[in-house]
Amino acid sequence: MAVLEEPIKEVLKLKNYIDGEWVKSESAQILDVINPATQKTIGKVPMSTRDEVNAAVKAAQEAFPDWRRTTPLARARCLFRLKELLEEHFEELSRVQTQEHGKTIDESRGETRRGIEMVEVATGIPSLMMGYNLEDIASGIDEYVIYQPLGVFCHIAPFNFPFMVPLWFSPFALATGNTFVVKPSPRAPISQVKLAELVDEAGFPPGVYNVVHGGADVVSILLEHPDIKGVTFVGTTKVGKDVYKKCAETGKRAIVQGAAKNFLVVMPDANIEATIPALLTSFFGNTGQRCLSGANLVIVGDDDRFYNSFIDAVVDTASKIIIGNGLDESVQMGPMQSIDGKERVTGYIESGIQQGAKLRLDGRENIKIVGDCPQTCFLGPTIFKGVTPDMKIGSEEIFGPVMSVMRAKNLDEAIEMCNANPFGNAHSIFTASGKAAREFQYRIESGNVGINIGIVAPMAFFPFSGTKDSFFGVLHGQGRDAIRFFTETKVVIQRWF
Ligand code: NAD
Repeated sequence: MAVLEEPIKEVLKLKNYIDGEWVKSESAQILDVINPATQKTIGKVPMSTRDEVNAAVKAAQEAFPDWRRTTPLARARCLFRLKELLEEHFEELSRVQTQEHGKTIDESRGETRRGIEMVEVATGIPSLMMGYNLEDIASGIDEYVIYQPLGVFCHIAPFNFPFMVPLWFSPFALATGNTFVVKPSPRAPISQVKLAELVDEAGFPPGVYNVVHGGADVVSILLEHPDIKGVTFVGTTKVGKDVYKKCAETGKRAIVQGAAKNFLVVMPDANIEATIPALLTSFFGNTGQRCLSGANLVIVGDDDRFYNSFIDAVVDTASKIIIGNGLDESVQMGPMQSIDGKERVTGYIESGIQQGAKLRLDGRENIKIVGDCPQTCFLGPTIFKGVTPDMKIGSEEIFGPVMSVMRAKNLDEAIEMCNANPFGNAHSIFTASGKAAREFQYRIESGNVGINIGIVAPMAFFPFSGTKDSFFGVLHGQGRDAIRFFTETKVVIQRWF
């Protein structure tokens, strides 16, 4: 199969997008953006100064009064134009994601599609934003509820879905009449720059949408800024908790989506043929760098033959996964996004061995990489059996291609194991039994629940949920929750004399 052409051919010197202009940062601190498959530098990203962050917020604040007065239909028309441009640039956007992140081209295309769906759903804003009313709440008096935008919102993005995750929020914020500042992950900021180029072309008024590059310092400035009304954050729980605390202190609305440790429970009556491919995509898709990735595989029952043969089948299939540069269309798994990420995962593999788990497939060894790529960020699928919930590999987020296989006597024990873990992002059950599925869905402490589904990714018209240490806030990104998050409820009681 073909190795696709790279869209980024020279080192891009990234600029901020402020008030409808591309502005060069004055910062002396510039980081390299590295393609993890080739180890080539593809971009230079500035850690913006305080003045630059303030300029982005000021532009958004000044654009707000006119944007909120723009009719919902006119705002939707801008989103329609953006959606058309995203479709036109679909393949380029996807290849950029592969170049800056390492994921396979099919995974990038899936990410682009999901991002576009957010824009599509937000174009329905005239109906989505409607309030409600009742006449004659008392004689001759009517009451109604309207939803109004608040002002400037910002998004702090993670590296793992550099194109899609900011789109869980920005289309809904813009559609409801708010203005927006995005801070991409400095590890993978280029697809947000490409997106902003299309936002510009779509004709959004200057200042309505802004991009400011940087890391923790830029986040602090945004969180302290009095004109930021709300923050959406996606990343690790440790940083997220701090963001949530600062939002509470400064009275900002917040959606904070954190880390995960997802359990996939396989009952003895599961359809094995359909379950194994679903598990492999869940654990090893996006090289395990997905908040919805499987982390712990719990096999239920006391049948040793079933347990061992199931693991043999999973190991056999996982060991055949084709690894390499994601722009090679035959590749099924790309590299880890960074050397740091790879080192973190290999540290977990070592801890699993030390704590007594049995390594059935070692992704550190004998990885065959197709094409001409340095090994630097590559790691193969790794499978441990005999993992217990007290081991680090059984309890903490690894965020890499590692499957920890556990056993539970019965469904009750499996549910207890899942619920004892502090995270609650996306747990799944594989079973043919409606009763077991109902019991799991009812009792499991997880914001997203899968029944015979390995990756529980909610569609754009449903909220992206999460609970416990995976989520902080009340309303979620996407769907109706996002409309409510980005609007203030106003109640009007009216009487005519
Ligand atoms: P991260 O927490 O390192 O970074 C997230 C963002 O916060 C980045 O923009 C980064 O620049 C900024 N940041 C980093 N350190 C900071 C600090 N000390 N103070 C303020 N800001 C800081 O996360 P990441 O490594 O980019 O992303 C991976 C994590 O995101 C994983 O834990 C994954 O589970 C999680 N994630 C969760 C979801 C979800 O929906 N729950 C979705 C995607 C990713």
